[in-house]
Amino acid sequence: MVDIAALARLGGVKKYAADEVFFNFGDRGKEMFIILKGRVGVYINSFDGFQTKVAELKAGDFFGEMSLLEGLPRSATISSLEETVVLIINDANFEQVIAQQPSLALRIMKGMSNRVRQQNEELSFLKRGSKQHDEEALEGEVTAAPAAPVALSGAIFPPGHKSYPVMAPQTHEPYLFDRDTDCPVCEKKFPVRMMRSSKMRLERVDPDMRQRFEEFEPVWYNIWVCPHCLYANFNFEFKQISDALKPKIIEHGKTLKSKINLTDSKPRKIDEVFLSYYLALQTAQQAAKPDSGKLAKLWIRLSWLYSDVGDEEMYEYTSREALANFKDSFFNGRRDTSVEQDQRLNLVLGELSLRLGEKEEAMKFFRDAIVRKGGGNNVLNKQAEDRLSELRKAVTENESGV
Ligand SMILES: [Zn+2]
Repeated sequence: MVDIAALARLGGVKKYAADEVFFNFGDRGKEMFIILKGRVGVYINSFDGFQTKVAELKAGDFFGEMSLLEGLPRSATISSLEETVVLIINDANFEQVIAQQPSLALRIMKGMSNRVRQQNEELSFLKRGSKQHDEEALEGEVTAAPAAPVALSGAIFPPGHKSYPVMAPQTHEPYLFDRDTDCPVCEKKFPVRMMRSSKMRLERVDPDMRQRFEEFEPVWYNIWVCPHCLYANFNFEFKQISDALKPKIIEHGKTLKSKINLTDSKPRKIDEVFLSYYLALQTAQQAAKPDSGKLAKLWIRLSWLYSDVGDEEMYEYTSREALANFKDSFFNGRRDTSVEQDQRLNLVLGELSLRLGEKEEAMKFFRDAIVRKGGGNNVLNKQAEDRLSELRKAVTENESGV
């Protein structure tokens, strides 16, 4: 048993309010944390880099040890689910802590060895997977990589986008709170609406992986826009912007200023939400080689919003952009995803293809989503199988003229 009181005497005790972020996925850091009181949520990037809560940790648990011991970037995002008190361990007090609490050292080592084993399994599976892909490519069986997706031209909104008289319902309010943040591009302060993820209750997940929450829609609040320089990005990646891009974003922001009227209503208007996503697309396209994975994340969320306001034409347009970008990132991007992430991505690719009437493509993606071993997730296998059999049935009925 870890003697928390003895550890606390070593100093480095810090209190976090509910919904505070300890660190984000990918951050650099050199501390580990032991929870003395409270609870935290562990969030990993889901199929498209979006965040899903995968675990909760409570008093006596610890996190962040990989960064402390090996200097690795953070492998998950951690935020407090309630008021939480932690002991922060760093290079300065690490030896002292371990000397006082050998049982803690043992637990950390066990945790690390499990993690290394899991990573090795995933890695060997990924290697097998990519080898298979190469062989298939030689046989010409793999779908050709699609052309790079079309970038938005000078206009902010694509043709066909309209204004929609929709406002956020009152039920969103308890899930939000205000805070100031610093823009990493122009370094000015501005207010943002933060989400109380500790309160959010997942109701279900749609076939295209859209997460539905009771009384709340995070898609409305996922993008932060700096009102000074018009830098826009997903809230959880907001601080992750390369120095090289900053001057380009500032320059581009100046040209955008005259084209838009940035407002921030309470409750939010859906027109403001649409604008935030299109501004995030503008930011993403400032990169020399835009990240198609990020563009896909933005386009699929736009498709959800258009579906919510019932704009069929824009729903199809944005679904097509999402599909093109997901394909680009899937076939041409870095493949450092887990088996399960790939399953989800195949399912999303299948759903989007189906939505656009590309049945053969959809069936291929659903088949690829089925993974029987090496980290394959059975719920996802089942979803892919169900989709496949529905599609086969529809095709047979069509052929027999029923
Ligand atoms: Zn700014």
